[in-house]
Amino acid sequence: MMKNLIFVLVFIMSGIFAVSAQTVAFTNVNVIPMDKERVLQNQTVLIKDGVISEIGTKVKIPKDAQIINAKGKYLIPGLVDMHTHLLSDGDDYPDSIAEDELRVMVANGVTTIRFMIGTPEQLVLRAKSAKGEIIAPIIYSASPHLTGREQGNNFVVNTPEEAREAVRKSKAAGYDFIKVTTFIKAEVYEAAVDEAAKQNIRVVGHADSRFVGVERALKARQQIEHLDGYLEMILKTDAPMKGSISDLYISNPKNWESLDYVDESKIPALARATVEANPFVNPTQHFMKNSFGLPRSEESIRAQPDFKFYPKTVQENWFNFYKKARFINEVPAEKRARWVEIRNKIIKAIYDAGGKIMTGSDTPEFLFLYGFSMHRELKALADAGLSNYAALEAATKNPSMFFGTLEKVGTIEKGRRADLILLDANPLENISNTERRSGVMLKGKYYTQTEMNRWLDEIAPRIAGSHIEKKP
Ligand SMILES: [Zn+2]
Repeated sequence: MMKNLIFVLVFIMSGIFAVSAQTVAFTNVNVIPMDKERVLQNQTVLIKDGVISEIGTKVKIPKDAQIINAKGKYLIPGLVDMHTHLLSDGDDYPDSIAEDELRVMVANGVTTIRFMIGTPEQLVLRAKSAKGEIIAPIIYSASPHLTGREQGNNFVVNTPEEAREAVRKSKAAGYDFIKVTTFIKAEVYEAAVDEAAKQNIRVVGHADSRFVGVERALKARQQIEHLDGYLEMILKTDAPMKGSISDLYISNPKNWESLDYVDESKIPALARATVEANPFVNPTQHFMKNSFGLPRSEESIRAQPDFKFYPKTVQENWFNFYKKARFINEVPAEKRARWVEIRNKIIKAIYDAGGKIMTGSDTPEFLFLYGFSMHRELKALADAGLSNYAALEAATKNPSMFFGTLEKVGTIEKGRRADLILLDANPLENISNTERRSGVMLKGKYYTQTEMNRWLDEIAPRIAGSHIEKKP
């Protein structure tokens, strides 16, 4: 009897622990609900047990509620980063910094993430986050990546049976998606896709144009990252090269000449084919643009607020990479700007064809850190020609649709999980207003930006200082 009672109590308490039990009321707030493009002015939004319980102008506020006077401010859903990694995924940082890393995301308004190369540690973090044991976004984790060559955190798959085995193991381990990257032979890829269908798990990731290609990936209804393989699809038939500027092809200066053979009239049909096969597209445009497209001065990178999270050796390594990389130094700036322009046109065409663009940072490489980079991705999508509303959809509603959780989260409506951001200004007027935050609500618990900025100040030296320096 006693044992049962304790069990029941623990059960109830663990349930409460996962979300904030407190009632919170945002008052006088302008709500951007994201169900359609509109602003509901001067609302009261009531949150109970981590869920939005009421929205309106005549909401009765319980006496014990925590009141957040949000006069003149704007409430949007929390942001989703569909493509991220952790510094601690690799051997250069200890696993112990992972919780700090996740907090950096929350402090930037990121309330859901998808890890794109799985590790066993991520599954532990996913469980801890779901139980509310750590301050962290809701986590999805794709599998260790399937690849044709050893690259770390991977399954090397060179036969159909190896691919099937990797898919079965990933499913059994509890990963949410199967991640594919590069050097996978066509028949091996086909086997992975077939096995994934049998195991009821979706395939996401790269579409290596040399082996798999966009046509095959679309036929498999794969969700494609980075627009991999798309440039190759719009080359004129008489182009002297097959490789263009996607995936690992980027690093060969010769391939940049392919931009002279782009046939833009092929873009609309490619966009339609994409939407028909799988409308969810995650271009990681800021990452692509800023790593390989636009010339970035050292000063501009040093001035970024995320710069201080990287230790000196890592900062210097990336600056050296930029200085030495042939494809960055030998390819003229106009050509690289042209590449960004074509990518923008593809993104816009997919959107116009009815595609569901999603936001992904592909951090933390190249001195761009998760959290901070999300806002730059929103800006990059707006620069590609999406409206500010469409850019916000890419970070809120569209990922929820992809995950199949739109009934639970992703818009501001009664019954939705209270993952919210309170902004000082309207992001529909200027998308960069997502950087002007008063605070973030995570599963019903509100953190002021002032408080979270203190976390960031403490965390930055901790992460930078934890770097495991290798002996030369
Ligand atoms: Zn990635």
